[in-house]
Amino acid sequence: KEFCDINLGEIIQGNIKLAHYTTPTPVQKYSVPIIKGKRDLMACAQTGSGKTAAFLLPILSRICEEGPAAPTQSDSGNGYYNRRSSATPLAVILAPTRELALQIYDEARKFSYRSHMRPVVVYGGADISTQLQELSRGCDVLVATPGRLQDMLERHRVVLEKVRFVVLDEADRMLDMGFEPQIRNIVEQRGMPSVGVRQTLMFSATFPKEIQMLARDFLDNYIFLAV
Ligand code: AMP
Repeated sequence: KEFCDINLGEIIQGNIKLAHYTTPTPVQKYSVPIIKGKRDLMACAQTGSGKTAAFLLPILSRICEEGPAAPTQSDSGNGYYNRRSSATPLAVILAPTRELALQIYDEARKFSYRSHMRPVVVYGGADISTQLQELSRGCDVLVATPGRLQDMLERHRVVLEKVRFVVLDEADRMLDMGFEPQIRNIVEQRGMPSVGVRQTLMFSATFPKEIQMLARDFLDNYIFLAV
């Protein structure tokens, strides 16, 4: 099966062509229908396997199809945060490093070209004010390192109540780097739609006990994929 035989919608298909992708890699071939079928996923896949497009393409396609978020209670202005300056992403993608976050962001930009979707990336070790400014211009897909996202949440500049997709990319590396408390804080944050309401996708090169525990806590009746 080629990309053009998979139902991803016209805009995404056009962007796949612009990227000169023709044949899905194995992780893409299996993940796309699982994610489009609204299932949670635990995928064991290495860097270089095409895992970034494996989660971005179906997520962007679903957001395109399903449209923007429905208004929520705090849109009426009753919330204590200033809605005008807080971003309300539909998808949150966590990555261990600035380099990986930037790579995911670049792919997200490439595949959301000519759509209404706006990806934003935030990471530590860089000036926060530029990133806050980018967030305040709107954010549908947020790519973030865990520490910097936690900071943004504490400042009420990101609100998670509209999140439909959570991706933990290179989950084993994030745990190795000591990000488990931040990840748990983000995923278990007040306002974050609960397990089974949101869709959660985990990608990891390895599947040790610690990753199995996260999968048990964050995923709902998930499909396990090893490629
Ligand atoms: P990743 O494993 O997501 O880091 O992807 C590794 C590299 O392969 C990246 O440079 C992608 O742009 C590229 N790539 C991913 N999927 C495909 C595909 N189906 N066809 C051609 N190149 C791809």
